[in-house]
Amino acid sequence: MGTQQQNLTPAESTTGSVSLQVCAVIDETADARSLVLDIPPSLRERFRYKPGQFLSFRVPFAGKLLTRCYSMASSPLADALPKVTVKRVDGGRVSNWMNEVRVGDWLEVLPPAGLFCLDPQADTEKPLVLFGGGSGITPVFSILKSVLHSSRRPIKLIYANRDEASVIFKDELCRLIKAHPDQLHVVHVLDSVQGFLTDHQVRHLLRGSAGGDYFICGPGPFMDTVERTLLALGEAAERIHVERFVSPPDPDELLAEEALARKAAMGSHCEALIVELDGQQHEIACQPGDTLLQSCKAAGLDVPSSCEEGFCGACMCVVKEGEVQLARNDVLSAKELADGWTLACQSRPTGARVRLKFPD
Ligand SMILES: Cc1cc2nc3c(=O)[nH]c(=O)nc-3n(C[C@H](O)[C@H](O)[C@H](O)COP(=O)(O)OP(=O)(O)OC[C@H]3O[C@@H](n4cnc5c(N)ncnc54)[C@H](O)[C@@H]3O)c2cc1C
Repeated sequence: MGTQQQNLTPAESTTGSVSLQVCAVIDETADARSLVLDIPPSLRERFRYKPGQFLSFRVPFAGKLLTRCYSMASSPLADALPKVTVKRVDGGRVSNWMNEVRVGDWLEVLPPAGLFCLDPQADTEKPLVLFGGGSGITPVFSILKSVLHSSRRPIKLIYANRDEASVIFKDELCRLIKAHPDQLHVVHVLDSVQGFLTDHQVRHLLRGSAGGDYFICGPGPFMDTVERTLLALGEAAERIHVERFVSPPDPDELLAEEALARKAAMGSHCEALIVELDGQQHEIACQPGDTLLQSCKAAGLDVPSSCEEGFCGACMCVVKEGEVQLARNDVLSAKELADGWTLACQSRPTGARVRLKFPD
């Protein structure tokens, strides 16, 4: 591969990514492949992940460094190493590149991130209902395997695919159903047989699962159908989790957006930026135009961050006082925004005093 990484050590790059070596490649279907990554002992802590999280890959492509997220299909509890599964997208630049990766290649990877995860306080007596469509099976499969590994919680998986040949992890799922016949219930929906999932079918499939936790990942219309039906059935919005598989803009577009946002913020002067981090309070300076994250880093605060492009959610924090302007946001829901959450990498203060709190 002309563009593969040649580093031979897990050295850190200037973009915060590290080089990881691919130790296995698995053909899942005709157009999807899994890549298993070797994590050296020095990086194990940093690459510890929760079921449902993703890795971001920086891939050199035609003179640009493109970032793409791929959810881990592996379980941190049941599998020794992280595995991502990439489905080719027609005309897609990175997905096709990733499908040519071989054992021994090195990839530039950012640490795990993402909020499409189980609530540790969730009532495990309540059903867990997972909806996966096509490659959207990956994060729900990680959650499924982890729950089977660690509890007796009942799980229903509704898995939609174009046809039988497109079903990723078919054999692994069969083995899990055999091993957990009373705990795991899987319903396959094939476009070639039933057509696209309808509201009516979703209602039918949800019988007996009221009051559960719901995780949905797949094509846009599939997710919209499921979410709309759950809300119409009166299920609580905070127990419906949705992961959207989108590509971030190219770096040149991001730079242009960043320049515009910086320019717009140049007129506002924040005199006091107060940051609550790990139980401590810091009052730091904020240069006009700088994001909250840039100000924190300039002050030497070790705040969480990863992609710095507004799509991973690693730098989520709550604005407790004052106002900020959020530029790009591919992560936060309308509810999270209303609750005061923002992304430190994409927000700039618009008032004289701002107080932030990073999650403990
Ligand atoms: C949190 C998260 C997790 C994800 N997990 C997975 C996963 O587990 N597995 C998985 O397979 N995917 C996953 N994705 C999706 C993945 O990140 C990519 O979006 C996907 O692989 C497509 O990337 P690409 O570079 O191949 O396509 P892109 O190059 O981004 O192209 C996408 C589409 O746009 C079109 N296009 C490209 N360039 C242009 C242009 N200049 N003008 C007009 N149209 C254009 C292409 O033809 C294609 O149809 C995830 C995404 C997110 C955000």
